[in-house]
Amino acid sequence: MKKYLNGKVIIVTGASSGIGEAMAREYAKMGAKVVMAARREDELQRISTEIIAQGGEVVYSVCDVVSEEDCKQLINRAVEAFGGIDILICNAGLSMRALFDDCDLKVLHRLMDVNFWGTVNCTKYALSWIQKSKGSIVGISSVAGIHGLPGRTGYSASKYAMTGFLDTIRVENLKKGVHVMTACPGFTASNVRFSALTADGSQQGDTPRNESKMMTPEEVAHIVARGIHRRKRLCLMEWEGRATHFLKKICPAFVDRMFYAMMAKEPDSPLK
Ligand code: NAP
Repeated sequence: MKKYLNGKVIIVTGASSGIGEAMAREYAKMGAKVVMAARREDELQRISTEIIAQGGEVVYSVCDVVSEEDCKQLINRAVEAFGGIDILICNAGLSMRALFDDCDLKVLHRLMDVNFWGTVNCTKYALSWIQKSKGSIVGISSVAGIHGLPGRTGYSASKYAMTGFLDTIRVENLKKGVHVMTACPGFTASNVRFSALTADGSQQGDTPRNESKMMTPEEVAHIVARGIHRRKRLCLMEWEGRATHFLKKICPAFVDRMFYAMMAKEPDSPLK
C-alpha cells in the first residue's frame, strides 16, 4: 500500500482539518505528491510547511468547493505542480444537527452545495486527468450515506447524492480504467460536529458525542489508502458501517429503530 501511493499525485479536499489533514500527512509520508485544498489558507500553510519539513512533497490551493472556478483552479494547480493527477479525494464536508420539522431549508441547500456539488465540481475538472492515469476518484461519504441518520436529513441526503453520482461515474468509465470508490467512515474524532449547522444555519460549536471513543482520522486515512490500493468500490471501516450495510439488506426496519435509538441517546437530541 505504501509502495502503491509512492509517487502518486493525490488531491485531498478539506485538507485543513480532521480526516483530510490526516490523509495529506499520511500519504505524503508514503511518498505521494499531495495537493491540499480547503478555504482556510493559514491552516493549509501551517500543515504544508510541517509536511515539507518532514521531507514530504506538497502544494496547496485555497479552494471553496462550492465554487466551480475554485475547483478548476485546484485541478490546474495540481497539474502545474506535478504534471497530472492520479487520485482525487473529495473529502471536504459539512454536517448538521436538527430535525427536518424545525430546519431552515437553507441548511439543506448548504449541505448539498458543499458535500454533493463540491464533489461534482472537483470531479468535473479532474476526470480527464484521471482517465489518462487510470487512477481513482474517492468520495468520503459516511455511514449516514448508507442509511438515513435522524437529525441529519441534509447530511444523509447529500451523501446519498454523492453515492449516486459516483456510482454513475464508475459505470460511465467502465472501459476507461477509472476506479471510483465511496468510503464510509463511522464517527471519527474531528471538527465536523463543531462546525455542524443547527436548525437556523448557525454553527453548533460543540460536540454531543464523546470524541475520545471514536476512530481517529489517521485510522480512516489508512483504511482509505488500503481501499484505493485494492480498487474497492465501497470502503467500510468498522462495525457500525459493516453492520449497517449488511443489516439494511435483510432487516431495514430494524436499522431504522437502531439509528433512532442511537441518536435519541445523544444529550440534547432533537429526537426527544
Ligand atoms: P472537519 O474536521 O470539520 O473537516 C472538514 C474539512 O472540510 C475542513 O478541512 C474544511 O476546511 C473543509 N471544508 C468545509 N467546507 C468547505 C468548502 N466549502 N470548501 C472547501 N473545503 C471545505 O471534518 P472531518 O470529520 O474531517 O470531515 C471530512 C469528511 O469526512 C467530511 O466529508 C465528512 O462528512 C466525512 N465524515 C466524517 C465523519 C466524522 O465523524 N468525523 C464521519 C463520516 C464521514 P475549511 O474550513 O478550511 O474550508
